[in-house]
Amino acid sequence: MSGGTITNSSQPGKQPRGPIDSAAMPRSAYIHVPFCAHRCGYCDFTLIAGRDDLIGDYLRALGREINGPSLAAMSPNARQDSDSERGGVSPPVLGMNSTHSEPGGLRHPAQGENAKPEEPLTLALSPQGRGEGTRELDTLFFGGGTPTHPSCDQLREMFRIVYERFTLAAGAEVSVEANPLDLTDEKIDVLADAGVNRISLGVQSFSTEALTLLERDHSPSDIADVIARLKRRFDNVSLDLIFGVPGQSLEDWRVTLRRAISLGPTHVSTYGLTWEQGTAFGTRRDRGELAPIDEELERSQYALAMDELATAGFEHYEISNFARPGYRCRHNEVYWSGDEYWAFGPGAARYLNGRRETNIRSVLGWLAKLERGESPVAEAEELEPAHRARELIFLGLRRREGIAREDFLRRTGFALEDIAVSAIQTNTACGWLEETGTHIRLTSEGRFVADRVVAEFL
Ligand code: SF4
Repeated sequence: MSGGTITNSSQPGKQPRGPIDSAAMPRSAYIHVPFCAHRCGYCDFTLIAGRDDLIGDYLRALGREINGPSLAAMSPNARQDSDSERGGVSPPVLGMNSTHSEPGGLRHPAQGENAKPEEPLTLALSPQGRGEGTRELDTLFFGGGTPTHPSCDQLREMFRIVYERFTLAAGAEVSVEANPLDLTDEKIDVLADAGVNRISLGVQSFSTEALTLLERDHSPSDIADVIARLKRRFDNVSLDLIFGVPGQSLEDWRVTLRRAISLGPTHVSTYGLTWEQGTAFGTRRDRGELAPIDEELERSQYALAMDELATAGFEHYEISNFARPGYRCRHNEVYWSGDEYWAFGPGAARYLNGRRETNIRSVLGWLAKLERGESPVAEAEELEPAHRARELIFLGLRRREGIAREDFLRRTGFALEDIAVSAIQTNTACGWLEETGTHIRLTSEGRFVADRVVAEFL
């Protein structure tokens, strides 16, 4: 964790004065689909490449997990039973213990490998095949890996499994991350027919050289083709782009941004290339074969994205995300708001009942756990009120609006200055934070050092 200028979590007399969040049922769910044809050199996501033979096992395990304890843990009856059995403490979630944290706010408690699993829930199914314990969602997000990698039949089965336990509220947002070359016309129809209404397309670049370096399997012309075909069924298409690619000049990046804008997306996400230890890129950097681009150039690329997308009418609503009016990603806004959500699949992290849990990252390990009827949770932690409050700052500062002081006090019981006075003062003095009267938020300059600023609040 960086900084050290703030985060005085144990100030005497600074106890929360109100509730920490509400106990409302989550209305969002994330499904992690961990399959890719090939692992791109820069990628350290949870996935398994070249093992399509495991997709059937994955679907069975996903069904087990979705029908397992995490939904039961959020049912009104489960809350009540749990409280009465445990003398009023939090509901049981898979018997994990908590220990330590890491930057970014995700916690890594002691592994619960030997925790005794709870019995999976069995619910009676209605004649329509829907479980009586179904939950209604406002947002549902399929991420990966590559959720569009499985076959059409496998995708239909995946949606059947999910919709057996989750229903969609009117106007719900259903997003799927997609790889351009997977999207045959038939697959596009499968997605649309399953209620998907938002596609997040992994474009990354319109430069052949950059796509080759990034080990992507598509070409610039493939992107234009697939977007044209997607538009037959979807009006909400987001494009992911990467800057900071070795060899990518400012002019190259301008071309990519302009090509992307010209194809009419509703939303654009721009990410700086990261160099993670253990990836092929990390190894190549250590050997001197590849080098990150100059920091100033990367900063200029980020600034260019802000300029070009603003000029084209996109709102820069989160550090990495730009949307046309009305097209923010509602699912990701749930994360940034600090609201609760379900999550399923290897490596998936959920936040329920004030408790964060992360599944085992190994795809094979996750499969084995669920096949044995064991919990797939590897890490879990009850968040202390002060820590939870700091996380809300950490998440909220990513958003354009920043953090509403009154809302923060209502949700956490803390005034912002109670727990972060030093960080607020320091970053305001640097010109990276500003006060609007009702909110604190990053300044335009602060967005360039956002990671550094938000880390100081943890
Ligand atoms: S397609 Fe995406 S998830 Fe799959 S390996 Fe490449 S970057 Fe990672």
